[in-house]
Amino acid sequence: MLITCKNCNTIFSIDQSKLTSNNQKVKCSVCSNVWIVSQKNEEINLNKNTKKNLSNNFLKTILVLGFLIIVVILGISQKNILSAQLPFIKKIYISLGFNVGPNINALEIVNLKTNYHNNYLRIYGEIKNNTSLKSHASLILIKIYDSKNNLLKEIKVRPDNKFIEPKNNINFFYQSDFKGPNKIKIKVQLSSDLVF
Ligand SMILES: [Zn+2]
Repeated sequence: MLITCKNCNTIFSIDQSKLTSNNQKVKCSVCSNVWIVSQKNEEINLNKNTKKNLSNNFLKTILVLGFLIIVVILGISQKNILSAQLPFIKKIYISLGFNVGPNINALEIVNLKTNYHNNYLRIYGEIKNNTSLKSHASLILIKIYDSKNNLLKEIKVRPDNKFIEPKNNINFFYQSDFKGPNKIKIKVQLSSDLVF
């Protein structure tokens, strides 16, 4: 253990095991100052330091845990956006058992056009990504009703791309024979299914 002479500030190293009692007189070999060294006090100081270190470590652990919890919450809540940016992130999510899909709130159907003539149906338009981040594309769900709102047919259409770049559009297109009534209602919406 190290002791300091309060008179001349010389630091001495002494063998702690040679301190027999709690309070022991020591003499400075430089200035002959005599004072009392207490083994107890040294131990008390040591304990204080240990407690300080322990509370510092506890604080660090709490901070690291808090940070990790935030990362996990963000990672799960933003999985659709994050997985669209890099393919390997999508693989990690799927291997962890999470479903990843398009971020429907970020997407919009625009320039929708329908054409029904001589029992031939044609539906086309674009999916727009309104965000400044790359997004998964979604399948297009088309529902065809008669004039009395009876569902006649349901079709899922794959758009031209798996992904939509920021502030960009991709096309979708459907055409087929449709031998239905003369008047039909068509509902076109984004599906939450991923485009594979
Ligand atoms: Zn001294």
